[in-house]
Amino acid sequence: MSQPDSDAGLIIIGAGHAGVSVAEQLRRKQYAGKITLIGKEPGLPYQRPPLSKQYLKGEWDRQRVLQRNADFYSKQRIDLIDDDPVISIDTDNRQVTLASGQSLGWNKLVLTTGNRLKRLNIPGSDTEGIHYLQSLAHSDALKSAMSAAQRAVVIGGGYIGLEGAAAMALAGIQVTLVNRSLTLLSRSASGPVSDWLLRTHQQKGVNLELGQTVSSIVTENGSVSGVCLDDGRALEADLVLVGIGVEPDTALAEAAGLNCRDGVLVDSKCVTSHPDILAAGDCTRFDHLLYERSVRLESIQNAVEQGKQVASTLVGESVSYNAVPWFWSDQYDAKLQIAGLAEGHDLEVIRGDEHGERFSVFCYQQRRLVAVESVNAPADHMMARKLLKAGVSPLPDDAADPEFNLRGALPS
Ligand code: NAP
Repeated sequence: MSQPDSDAGLIIIGAGHAGVSVAEQLRRKQYAGKITLIGKEPGLPYQRPPLSKQYLKGEWDRQRVLQRNADFYSKQRIDLIDDDPVISIDTDNRQVTLASGQSLGWNKLVLTTGNRLKRLNIPGSDTEGIHYLQSLAHSDALKSAMSAAQRAVVIGGGYIGLEGAAAMALAGIQVTLVNRSLTLLSRSASGPVSDWLLRTHQQKGVNLELGQTVSSIVTENGSVSGVCLDDGRALEADLVLVGIGVEPDTALAEAAGLNCRDGVLVDSKCVTSHPDILAAGDCTRFDHLLYERSVRLESIQNAVEQGKQVASTLVGESVSYNAVPWFWSDQYDAKLQIAGLAEGHDLEVIRGDEHGERFSVFCYQQRRLVAVESVNAPADHMMARKLLKAGVSPLPDDAADPEFNLRGALPS
């Protein structure tokens, strides 16, 4: 392995939330070296959450979606290379090669490569009118298709499917959502929240086909005209949105010989199996200090805060990553906020009215609070983040009592 060339600088591969966070936090911590941030998409780095929310609904314009304006990067001396993906990493000679053919040297490398979309692979799935939603270009294309659509089929009942269905229903489009499992948001939500999502979408007129998959796309003159379900029924559609999940983009890391297992493996300092290569965000897998198990998180919070951890590690701070995971989703005029990780919980305690419009689900595992899911209850959510960070588990009876002040459970 060659020695670091101290003049070569730091290269960040991936200009999403994690990549921008690394660069920004390094400058905040007075890191004086050269920083190059390389993105595969054209233009300035942008925020992803609005792509299925405010931007898709036309409430925010393009400028508002940007993470930072061009001035920020020049003032902070962050060299931004856009529209030129890194295609290989040479760890022996400490170089990266870009699609344009350009090679750049590095002394430290940070991987923030994010996710790759899972794509439908059924007859007709490459037809015009089939949409995915991961990038700004995807959101532009979907928004434009929505303006002419009357009937949409959404495939997948995760975050993309649900937020997409909500935006389309609000735009007056007749929506059918097809989901493989019988519950919505099955990967992350408890039963009561999944049921609330179901009721909310049904009340807004969305037709739900749960426990179903699509067997083929029906086309007419080269464009989508409907889908066939596994049970043989056909649904008409002039627009199809697919949100069937993602997988971590570990291709470069694997080719470079880094240890990967459903994610680039990093330690609590965000260092990979190569001492001078770090990684942050959706592409990583790590042992979470609060949960004492290996996790891979698809979240903005984790991307931004692991980015901060990478910066801390690079400037020699002794902190380790132990942030409480949190997530949110806006659908219609409702806000779902999740603090912690509910997977494996064995007790659910409801605070508020689960059949109403405002409640929280406290999830316990062996009497320990592991997650709190809040529907239109932001105060519960903020308190949950504090409780989880402090490792405090209110008694289930106390959590269930809306009159009980959760703050009182925190150490003074
Ligand atoms: P997701 O949350 O993993 O949900 C995928 C859904 O598709 C699951 O409900 C899954 O059902 C279903 N599914 C899978 N294959 C299917 C098939 N062939 N037919 C019908 N349903 C199928 O993924 P996503 O919604 O595509 O989101 C992609 C990424 O964007 C994730 O990283 C997500 O976190 C992120 N995102 C987050 C937010 C937010 O946090 N608010 C918003 C938008 C996007 P099963 O339960 O059976 O697997």
